Amino acid sequence: MSAENSEVSNNGIVIIGAGLAGWHVIDAIRAKDKDIPITLITADSGDRYHKPMLTMAISQKKSAADLVRATGVDAAEAANIKLLANTQVTDVDASTQQLQLISALRSDPVYTNYATIGYDKLVLAMGAHPIFPKSLPEELVWHVNHIERFGQLQEKLATGSQHVAIVGAGMVGTEIAEDLLKAGHQVTLIDLNDAPLSQMLPPKATARIAQAVKSQGINFLGGYQVSAITRISDGKLQVSYEALASATESSTAEPIEPLMVDHVIASTGLTVDDKLPTAAGVEFDRRTGIVVDAPTLRTSTANIYAIGDCMSIDGVPCRYVAPLRAQAATIADDVLGLEHNGYDHKPPMIRLKNKAISVMVTGVPKATGNWQVKTESDEELVMDLLNDSDEVSATVTIKAPVVLKA
Ligand SMILES: Cc1cc2nc3c(=O)[nH]c(=O)nc-3n(C[C@H](O)[C@H](O)[C@H](O)COP(=O)(O)OP(=O)(O)OC[C@H]3O[C@@H](n4cnc5c(N)ncnc54)[C@H](O)[C@@H]3O)c2cc1C
Repeated sequence: MSAENSEVSNNGIVIIGAGLAGWHVIDAIRAKDKDIPITLITADSGDRYHKPMLTMAISQKKSAADLVRATGVDAAEAANIKLLANTQVTDVDASTQQLQLISALRSDPVYTNYATIGYDKLVLAMGAHPIFPKSLPEELVWHVNHIERFGQLQEKLATGSQHVAIVGAGMVGTEIAEDLLKAGHQVTLIDLNDAPLSQMLPPKATARIAQAVKSQGINFLGGYQVSAITRISDGKLQVSYEALASATESSTAEPIEPLMVDHVIASTGLTVDDKLPTAAGVEFDRRTGIVVDAPTLRTSTANIYAIGDCMSIDGVPCRYVAPLRAQAATIADDVLGLEHNGYDHKPPMIRLKNKAISVMVTGVPKATGNWQVKTESDEELVMDLLNDSDEVSATVTIKAPVVLKA
């Protein structure tokens, strides 16, 4: 691969990352321009799949292969793009508009730069990766943030009913807990907080979710921190956990018997790797991701855009599927130099995929703040989050599931 230094180059558009975000950008560009050179560089195979399915697939007995809608190779051919699969971008030089690449295959011993590639426009769509707290060593726990790792877990779980501990009761943890329960596994869901989704919703709302989760048979342990995970001789994992300080103020807490489980899944949040954003000199926050100008999705560095889990708008990470299509369409217009009205960001509607309870959120929810009850009955709870000007900035609607009569 030769690096071109001429001022007018033909490097075209380079996209880093073949998740939903990267592929949406390709679809949007190809809808407007069939020929402009596009190179997709991705550390994985580039296979197209719908990531939200990962928290529904095990109970549906779907393997990773069943979830692939098109292989990377086939999708690249159909879109007339160049795919550099199993390739990791290790460096971005924004002044020369060049990227350094290495093989991402573990079997490949070459860990030196093996290629340099130039870009005219660069789209960062490299997602975010799971956070593994020290007590959850990566080699002992699973995550469901990528189809490859999901596939390995799915294969293990397909061999029969097992005990799975899930650490972190955010949306992903709460959804996968129900999915595994439905698939016939014994499930323990552990969280620092007293109830699931406590980082986005007020206690009055989350208490209903905790109740629903427990009553369907998930062993929910709220207010506990996992302190260590150890593999023991028969292949089981020992999960040691302790009550959080606030819950043991009386200091009469008894030592807690560790859990013995077959698998541990970490769903303890996501972080954006700072390496490429720092190299590219784009404005960046480790927790929320790459800062973009919302109407154009441009980063603070010329000719570099960002989309998907690696990006944030107005300090809020944008980690949902719904906005991707409109964001990708804006990037397509902007990179192709076409007139556009600017992306108009509206927080997407958030819907928990659990069936034991229906949880729907609009706006930008947060755990604390002036939440007010609008409707409250056994069947339904509606609460609004009011900002300082008493305007509604988020609404949560929680409904008991409709019980179908036999
Ligand atoms: C289990 C689960 C369930 C979800 N459910 C929902 C839901 O119901 N509704 C919803 O709206 N959202 C849901 N989400 C969120 C949604 O799926 C994500 O926001 C979205 O898929 C993110 O896509 P992405 O392309 O930004 O990132 P990713 O899918 O993470 O893709 C990133 C890509 O970048 C590549 N990459 C990373 N670093 C490099 C590098 N240095 N060099 C080369 N390639 C690199 C990776 O290999 C990968 O291909 C869910 C997420 C999970 C994990």
